[in-house]
Amino acid sequence: MNVRDSEHLIAELNQQEPYQITDELSDADLIIINTCSVREKPVAKLFSEIGVFKKYKKPSAKIGVTGCTASHLGKEIIRRAPAVDFVLGARNVSKITKVINTKHAVEVDTNFDESSYNFAEYRTNSFKAMVNISIGCDKSCTFCIVPATRGDEVSIPSSLIISEITKSVALGAKEVMLLGQNVNNYGRRFSSSDEICNFTKLLQQISMIDGLERIRFTSPHPLHMDDEFIEEFASNPKICKQIHVPLQSGSTAILQKMKRGYTKENFINRCEKIRKLCPEATISTDIIVGFPDESDSDFEETMSVLNTVRFEQLFSFKYSARPHTEAMDFDNQIENSLAGERLTRLQTRHTQILDEIMDSQLGKIHRVYIDELKPNGKVSGRADDGKLFFIDGSEELLGRIIDVKVTRTSRGALDGEII
Ligand code: SF4
Repeated sequence: MNVRDSEHLIAELNQQEPYQITDELSDADLIIINTCSVREKPVAKLFSEIGVFKKYKKPSAKIGVTGCTASHLGKEIIRRAPAVDFVLGARNVSKITKVINTKHAVEVDTNFDESSYNFAEYRTNSFKAMVNISIGCDKSCTFCIVPATRGDEVSIPSSLIISEITKSVALGAKEVMLLGQNVNNYGRRFSSSDEICNFTKLLQQISMIDGLERIRFTSPHPLHMDDEFIEEFASNPKICKQIHVPLQSGSTAILQKMKRGYTKENFINRCEKIRKLCPEATISTDIIVGFPDESDSDFEETMSVLNTVRFEQLFSFKYSARPHTEAMDFDNQIENSLAGERLTRLQTRHTQILDEIMDSQLGKIHRVYIDELKPNGKVSGRADDGKLFFIDGSEELLGRIIDVKVTRTSRGALDGEII
C-alpha cells in the first residue's frame, strides 16, 4: 500500500509542476520519506535517515515525512527533527500539494475520506497496475497499529475501481494488483442499491474488463474467506493462483488474545478448501512469534500449521510491541532471546519446505508475464502462481505472457527457457 501511496504522491506533485525522480540525494529539491510503522525498527530508522538527509541535501531542499509513522507521531516528528518541513498522514495523501508549501505543516487526520478522490495518473511499472479498493481497517487485532494510523475501513466505489483499471489497461497493463488491508471485507458498509457489492462480485466485474489478463490481490482476511470467494478464486481464469492467508499464530488461545476471529481449525479448513479446489495455488502467510503469553505448546501449534499447510512463502517476525495497541500492556511479554529461538526454528523448517517445493518444479511449464529487463541479457517475470522467473531474452519480451519451462531451481527464483 505504501508503494501505491508513493505513486499517488508523485502523481499529485507532477500535476502541480514537473518533477523528476533522482537517485542522487544532493540533486533533490524535495525528499519524501514514506514510512511504515508496523514494527518498531523502521520508526527508529526514520530519525537516523532524516539526520543523513539533512547533512547531505541541498540547503534549499525540503524534507517531508508521510505514511503511517507520520499518522502516529504527527507533530512530534518536527519537534524531534526540526529539519522536517512537513508531515502528511497515510490517510491524507491527496493533500500533498497543500502541505508542501506550508512550513511545518502537519496533516494527519485519520478520519479523512479520500475514497472518491480522483488521483492523477502515475505508475512505476506500466505492465502491472496497483489499485486501491479500500482504505483503513475495521478490525482490532491487539498487536496492530494500522487501525490507528490508517483509520476505519472505507471501500472505494466499484465504478471508480473499474474505470481506474480500464484506464491502466489502455496504457498497457495486463495485470492488476488490488490493494486493501482486508480486501475480502470489501463493500461491508455499502448500503444503497447502486453501491452494494462484495469482494467476490467485484472480482467478477473486474474480470470482464477487456485486455486485462491477470488479477492479484492482497491481503484477504481468513475470517472472510467464505466458500463463494474460494470458489471464485479457483474457477475464474483471470485470477492468479496465488493467495496470501495471514495466519499470525497457529494456537487458538493466542489467536483469541490477538482478536483474530478464527481458530486454528477454521484456518486449516480454509487452506484445505483452497488446496482442494485449486491444487496449483500457492499460499503465503504472515506469522508472529513471541506474542505475549505464547507458551512452548502454543508455538508447537504454529509449527504444526506450517507443516500441514506447507506455505510457499512465509513472512515471519518476532512480536514487536507497538503504541496504540492493546497487546502493548499485556502481561507475560516473551523474552527476546526465546522469541528469537522460535523464529529461527520456524524459518529453518520453512526453508526445508520451500526447498522441496522449488526442487519439484524442475521441468514444469508455467505461464510467465515478463515485466522487467535485467542485466546480462535476461528478463524476469512472475508465473500465475507468483513464482519469480529469470529467462534469457531482451526488450521485445517485455509485456508478453509466455510459456516457460523450468531449467534450474533455487530457493528464491527459477531459471527457465521459452518453449
Ligand atoms: S486485520 Fe488486523 S493485522 Fe490486518 S491491518 Fe487490520 S488490525 Fe492490522
